[in-house]
Amino acid sequence: MDFTIPDDLAEFRKVVRRFVDNELLPYEDHVEEHDGLPEEVERSIKKKAVEIGLNAIGMPEEVGGAGLDVLGQVLVTEELFRALGGLAEVVPTAPSILLACDDAQRERFLLPCVTGDKQWCFALTEPDTGSDAAGIKTRAERRDGSWVINGRKRFISHGDSADFAIVFAVTHPDREKDRITAFLVERGTPGFAVGQTHKTMGHRGYRQAELVFDDCVVPAENVLGEPGHGFDIAHGGLSSGRVMTAARCLGPMARLIDEGVEWAKQRVQFGRPIADYQAIQFMLADCATDLQAARMLTYSAAWAADQGEAAKIVSAKASVAKLFASEALGRVADRVLQIFGGTGYMNETYVERAYRNARIERIWEGTSEIQRIIIARNLLKRGMFA
Ligand SMILES: Cc1cc2nc3c(=O)[nH]c(=O)nc-3n(C[C@H](O)[C@H](O)[C@H](O)COP(=O)(O)OP(=O)(O)OC[C@H]3O[C@@H](n4cnc5c(N)ncnc54)[C@H](O)[C@@H]3O)c2cc1C
Repeated sequence: MDFTIPDDLAEFRKVVRRFVDNELLPYEDHVEEHDGLPEEVERSIKKKAVEIGLNAIGMPEEVGGAGLDVLGQVLVTEELFRALGGLAEVVPTAPSILLACDDAQRERFLLPCVTGDKQWCFALTEPDTGSDAAGIKTRAERRDGSWVINGRKRFISHGDSADFAIVFAVTHPDREKDRITAFLVERGTPGFAVGQTHKTMGHRGYRQAELVFDDCVVPAENVLGEPGHGFDIAHGGLSSGRVMTAARCLGPMARLIDEGVEWAKQRVQFGRPIADYQAIQFMLADCATDLQAARMLTYSAAWAADQGEAAKIVSAKASVAKLFASEALGRVADRVLQIFGGTGYMNETYVERAYRNARIERIWEGTSEIQRIIIARNLLKRGMFA
């Protein structure tokens, strides 16, 4: 494995660090307090992100993305997520599933996401199906050359503000395989409404909403990919999605450790900085070990993807990275909060915010239990995926 960082990527990371310091960190208090940003600030962040080429980092250059390989995306994501998620998520992205767009869809959906002019959301989860995604109940039926969607989605990130939703619905209920189709459904389509929005534990400014489809008529040209093959195109991006979730955990871990070290050096109790006490040193040492291990697992999964290793092997490595990094972040946040003592329980500190934000990483993009299932299945079928 060679994790040598090319010069241009090292340079780009510095640019991203400056962007985070200057454009995102100053708004952390605001986003915490108001659960969002003023519109003009959000627009300005998006514009500046596009100016420095931070938009859609994984998208190919021919559609306006940065065209980074997976390891490059991991390194940039790690840097970007030193900022709270509600701010880092403002940077324009386009999900890889949109590469399945045909020419007309590219113009309407993919390209405006790359430039930050349109916001998407990914609508798979339903009230009765989360981990068991193949069990979704939302139905789409053909009628007069169009599709009519009925059902409900929930916990859909920025579902309340997205310009369009990538909606998964059962179109071929009698088949054993190839039952589900992906649709591009624009906000304002009759029969498509936003239902309940949730107040959540963390990630202020990054809201989840329920989406309701009630005889929602979608033209045939809004089918993404082939009817019945919605999961095939979604699965293409799943492994890299898990690697990126792992990468999103590295930034907060690094910042928590920096803050923990600084605090331990300057906080004096019993006449000495608490950093002098072995109990504190051991917590910091365990944090550093967790971060280093999470980094190596994440880089190695990204490297495997970039080398074109077999999809099942990449999938197992991505699950290992996601499982470990998300659980390591929870441990690091807990230890650093302990090092801060009561101060770490106060909302104005980064550690309190990071502690709450960390919890979701073990749930979304597949829970820790689902990652263990993927890893164990691979192990039992193929042996250790070295
Ligand atoms: C903040 C947030 C944002 C989200 N954003 C999106 C989004 O944008 N789009 C979207 O489609 N979804 C989104 N989700 C949904 C998310 O992907 C699901 O919450 C997640 O997949 C888990 O599903 P669930 O919550 O229904 O839990 P369940 O599937 O009901 O699981 C409950 C518990 O049972 C365990 N479990 C389930 N099956 C098994 C098994 N076979 N063996 C052992 N244990 C098992 C789980 O690990 C978990 O501990 C979001 C969720 C949250 C909380």
